Amino acid sequence: MRGMQDHVAIVTGASRGIGRAIALELASWGVKVVVNYQSSAAKAEAVVAEIQAAGGVAMAIQADVTDQQSVETMVTQTLAEWGTIQILINNAGITRDNLFQRLKDDEWDEVIKADLTSAFLCTQAVLPAMRANRYGRIVSIASLAGLAGNVGQTNYAAAKMGLVGFSKAVAREVTSDGIVVNVVAPGYIDTDFIDHIPQWLRTWALDVIPLKRFGKVEEVAPAVAFLASPAASYIIGHVLTIDGGWVMP
Ligand code: NAP
Repeated sequence: MRGMQDHVAIVTGASRGIGRAIALELASWGVKVVVNYQSSAAKAEAVVAEIQAAGGVAMAIQADVTDQQSVETMVTQTLAEWGTIQILINNAGITRDNLFQRLKDDEWDEVIKADLTSAFLCTQAVLPAMRANRYGRIVSIASLAGLAGNVGQTNYAAAKMGLVGFSKAVAREVTSDGIVVNVVAPGYIDTDFIDHIPQWLRTWALDVIPLKRFGKVEEVAPAVAFLASPAASYIIGHVLTIDGGWVMP
């Protein structure tokens, strides 16, 4: 898209899956991309290499998005290298599924930290740079599991629905600074993330999804890139579901 050549994006959890696809998509729109990862260094470097081979600009930065110091260092490194940040994609996330009766404290805490606190930390860390530009785009990746609830995912659903409320509240505080905040809530998308889901759930989901298949990462990334673009100037606090028609509000 025109007007994005000078833009810099941080995509959290971009070594694999949806984040990787978002990083590739944004780079193809001319954006310089930070490919954040936690432990998959080789995969993150492969994403950077793929972007560079296509003529784009990217760098990999290791940072645990649940750790404030780590997040601040990532933002400082980005600013030191490219001097500005226009886009934050809060994508990194995990699941620790268990039936609520059996859910352990650490399963609750880890998911809340990785799927919700991470967005708080990253958003707070990038806002000064966005405010300085009087421009910004923040897109957080929630989940249909948050909007609709899901058996065995009380921790994940709480974190993802929390992300929706968080995004709407932040959106109200920062629009006057030219910063736009939105949410994308995918249904089942074919990544490592859903490898572990039991066969009965897979069969059930494929039956209730009108398209009768799981989504592809390439069916999520362009919508995220649009919400991260200047064109999304009058879409505020929106939750865009990308789910093959599974939940039609
Ligand atoms: P994925 O393939 O498992 O990839 C997860 C990514 O998050 C990896 O890059 C991982 O880095 C990174 N990550 C995890 N914890 C991190 C941390 N503490 N700090 C930094 N990075 C961290 O997952 P995905 O399917 O692409 O999901 C991406 C997002 O979409 C998640 O927020 C997920 O909740 C959401 N989502 C997914 C689906 C789906 O069906 N796939 C549906 C709805 C929503 P490493 O590679 O270094 O571990």
